[in-house]
Amino acid sequence: MADDKPETLICTIVAVDTTNDFSYLVCSVCEKPLHNPISPCNFCNRNAFNSSSFPSKRLFRLLMSIASDTKVFRVICFDRAAKVLLGCSAGEFFDFAKLHPFAAANAGRILEGEMCRMTLAKPKNGNAQHLRVASVVPLSSGFQPVIQSLKEHYGVH
Ligand SMILES: [Zn+2]
Repeated sequence: MADDKPETLICTIVAVDTTNDFSYLVCSVCEKPLHNPISPCNFCNRNAFNSSSFPSKRLFRLLMSIASDTKVFRVICFDRAAKVLLGCSAGEFFDFAKLHPFAAANAGRILEGEMCRMTLAKPKNGNAQHLRVASVVPLSSGFQPVIQSLKEHYGVH
């Protein structure tokens, strides 16, 4: 990808990194990552009204390998695009994974082989190493969000 314009391509998901339950913890005020989940946000803590109960939430960060017709490469999928595939919020997924062992591994397996149309953008941060998935559209007519398949798999209704 020589220029900085987002590129749209048809690809197949070949592998999904299933560590960390696909998500990370952020400050729910400024959405900056929290490095230490039990301390207040460094970026906005001086504005916090109550430092003993600071707000945090989870956002998706999904690392995966995709194959186009010419190559295989790794991309990173943040919250908005990941929600399309997972069908729930990162917090919901995290809670589900806590109760259901191997949920992330199974989610990865469900996604593998899925054909998608993806728009890929250069990382905003010049040091970031992976292309960012700006949008994703699953192409299989039978596609259902991963959380749906997982609930069926674990017998949750
Ligand atoms: Zn903050």
